[in-house]
Amino acid sequence: MTTSSLQFDLPKPDITTWRAGNTGVEGVWQFDSGRAGRDVLITALIHGNELCGAWALKGLLQAAVRPQQGKLTLAFCNLAAFDRFDPADHDASRFVDEDLNRQWQLDRIESGSTLERRRARALRPFIAHADWLLDLHSMHERAAPLLLAGMQARNLELAKRLRTPEHVVVDAGHKDGVRMRDFGRFGTLNPIGDDAQTQSLLLECGFHGDVSSRTVAQDMCVRFLQAAQTLPAENLQRLLPGWLQADSECQWVLEVTGAVVALSADFRFTEPFQGLECIGKAGTVIGWNGSEPVSTPYDDCVLVMPSVRQAKPGVTVVRFARRRPL
Ligand SMILES: [Zn+2]
Repeated sequence: MTTSSLQFDLPKPDITTWRAGNTGVEGVWQFDSGRAGRDVLITALIHGNELCGAWALKGLLQAAVRPQQGKLTLAFCNLAAFDRFDPADHDASRFVDEDLNRQWQLDRIESGSTLERRRARALRPFIAHADWLLDLHSMHERAAPLLLAGMQARNLELAKRLRTPEHVVVDAGHKDGVRMRDFGRFGTLNPIGDDAQTQSLLLECGFHGDVSSRTVAQDMCVRFLQAAQTLPAENLQRLLPGWLQADSECQWVLEVTGAVVALSADFRFTEPFQGLECIGKAGTVIGWNGSEPVSTPYDDCVLVMPSVRQAKPGVTVVRFARRRPL
């Protein structure tokens, strides 16, 4: 089955009411409790076709969720791409000029006139000040949710406290640019080292067009705000009834050991992998990078987010991971 035949059920949220923001930066809302506490940031629409996070932020705004300590910032990130969203061609609205989630390095943020670099410049102060970041995404394929925790052990500890999702990915990001969740104080690329007070998680909630992706995003917002002590659990339950879902029965760490980068648009898998397949035998051919066979490097190799949707030279098409209990 090609992904273009996947049905897109999740409607585009109407965020007209919430578009302006209250910070002077379009799409960015900030609420200050006036009390000491964490500066917590939840972001959505880093990719314009990833609607689940926009639904979650809209819900938080409609419910008038306000921090009881610290600050809460909610940001709709790539509005220009979101404006172009068409369910019949949803990949086309991932970005306008280039991927906003690869621009988080100073040489790109501080120069360049692409729409995404200008937007990264506008968003930068909010990302730089945040202590905790939850970045809500969805996926090209129909697959179980994935929490991307980066390389820091403290993010894994937080994932354990959140008690969901089942799969937590440890990875260093992409070769083609730095993600927002690895920027500045969050990141291992920071010249003065990353800041141990920070937490940053990226949640891939499921397929872009599945209604369940919205449920996953909403559930994680409740857990994250509670863990950050932005609001007590009882307030979250009252303001956001039905958002909290059952805990995962078990949690696995998927340690990414390497990525396969497309050499050209001519990349294909040998099977319609959905992601999280565990390939028993090392050396199993799972795809063709042009005329080059791509094989698994070790036994029990897990495939993380296989996709040829955006395949072109330099783009990651699958990552390999080892699995262990969290
Ligand atoms: Zn995304």
